Amino acid sequence: MNFKLTIGWLYPSLMSTYGDRGNVIVIEKRCQWREIETHLTRIEIDTTNRELESCDLILGGGAQDRQQEMAVSDLLKRKNVLKEMFDRGIPGLFVCGSPQLLGHYYVTGEGKKLPGLGIFDYVTQHFGNDKPRCIGNTIGKIDSKFEIRNSKFKNTIVGFENHGGRTYLGKDCVPFAQVIKGYGNNGEDKTEGAVYKNVIACYYHGPFLSKNPHVADWLIKTALELKYKKEIELDPLDDELEWKAHEEILNRMNMK
Ligand code: GLN
Repeated sequence: MNFKLTIGWLYPSLMSTYGDRGNVIVIEKRCQWREIETHLTRIEIDTTNRELESCDLILGGGAQDRQQEMAVSDLLKRKNVLKEMFDRGIPGLFVCGSPQLLGHYYVTGEGKKLPGLGIFDYVTQHFGNDKPRCIGNTIGKIDSKFEIRNSKFKNTIVGFENHGGRTYLGKDCVPFAQVIKGYGNNGEDKTEGAVYKNVIACYYHGPFLSKNPHVADWLIKTALELKYKKEIELDPLDDELEWKAHEEILNRMNMK
């Protein structure tokens, strides 16, 4: 059977800081190496919701406050479509600026409150110059829920964070990871990111997926299984270089 995935990339021209575009490339490549066909749909401000709805996997990157402000009014119009897709189980990965818009609100560095989609139960506040930016390499510990067959699993994730906004999870909101090194959501409670159904929100740039092939494969497998309604085993790949990059961050942070 020939598998095919349509990857939706939210606001490529407004939201792709610190290499987040690389997440799209990683998904495309890992599919290509396994002869899974991919189609990339760029969701820009004038893209129809019909095109968005046809995506099997959604990726969103980071952006500074100004670009977030430009994107959010369009994103709010897509709230019901996105929520319905996520509730159906469509997987996604949103990094830094984009997940800030998926919570209840984001208060920018200038104190402007941007309403969010309220899909994730969290709020984000940028304290301007009152608190330092959260910058640096970061390591987290993830749940075995992300372990899949035929792909090596490590319970660590590594990345690079750079955010002024601090995210505070609601009481039922499940974090994506527990902070081992770095700031995570807010530098206080050791939570990193959040998970809603099969959607991951996180602060890890890098790009994240190039150094975390286990999470990339989890996203691909989840998207394929939802689309084809059956269990799918991914062909194993030679991830020596990817894991070396992962280990390098662990070493630098004295984790090994
Ligand atoms: N503007 C947001 C912040 O500083 C997001 C930054 C980013 O995406 N790297 O918190």
